[in-house]
Amino acid sequence: MNLKYRKTIIAGNWKMNKTLTETKAYAEAIKPMLGKHKWCEVVLCVPSVNIPGAVRLFRDTRVAIGGETCHYEASGAYTGEVTVEMLKDVGAKYVIIGHSERRQYYNETDFTVNKKVRAALDAGLRPILCVGESLEQRELGVTEELITYQVKVALAGLTESQVRRVVIAYEPIWAIGTGKTATAEQAGAVCSHIRAIIRKGYGARVARAVTIQYGGSMNAKNAAELLSQPDIDGGLIGGASLKPEDFLAIINAANQQG
Ligand code: PEP
Repeated sequence: MNLKYRKTIIAGNWKMNKTLTETKAYAEAIKPMLGKHKWCEVVLCVPSVNIPGAVRLFRDTRVAIGGETCHYEASGAYTGEVTVEMLKDVGAKYVIIGHSERRQYYNETDFTVNKKVRAALDAGLRPILCVGESLEQRELGVTEELITYQVKVALAGLTESQVRRVVIAYEPIWAIGTGKTATAEQAGAVCSHIRAIIRKGYGARVARAVTIQYGGSMNAKNAAELLSQPDIDGGLIGGASLKPEDFLAIINAANQQG
């Protein structure tokens, strides 16, 4: 983390979990404990159908609500999809783009990720762009090359001021939902590599300002060590964001770094 130059962002990814009733119970449990999250911004990315409800439930807090995916077209015959304007209109501030589950199960490619990132920024949403390697790719020693490719394609055509608004989440696929966390050194090294790619493409000032998260089995126990890495500016958290006390412990770990 480097609080002088960039925001720390702790974001939950609820995936296909929690009904609106369960969201209400979660909000009631976590709101009294939230206090002032001094240094970090807190985001909850929830299923599209529950975004309006979540926005209402967290209206009087500093928790921002986000979507988990979007389409890049402004409208059309894409049954089941939602546009960036739809997300914006119901109060979302963020949207996750290119999560490995979307890449794996819904044929999301680096090129559609790029279109989605651009659409989100044009609508005034902050994209949380996910990149990360599989275990096979890590073992083959191509992690840096793959991440370079993913980041470059995802950000193609963006202006410097647009790149500043993109949150990049480094999520090694082998660590997502598996209980296996990358070591702080492994995660920190890839996040530093991502910042170097931004520096090369968009200059030192932009690179310094971009928030880079780690995601992959981050929890109350390992958050502080991961967040102490200089280029890790927050977390994208799946499983541990579903329980108010676990998510709160990660928010507190981020606040204690300040
Ligand atoms: C995720 O889905 O983005 C994620 C990091 O999940 P988990 O924290 O459960 O590994």
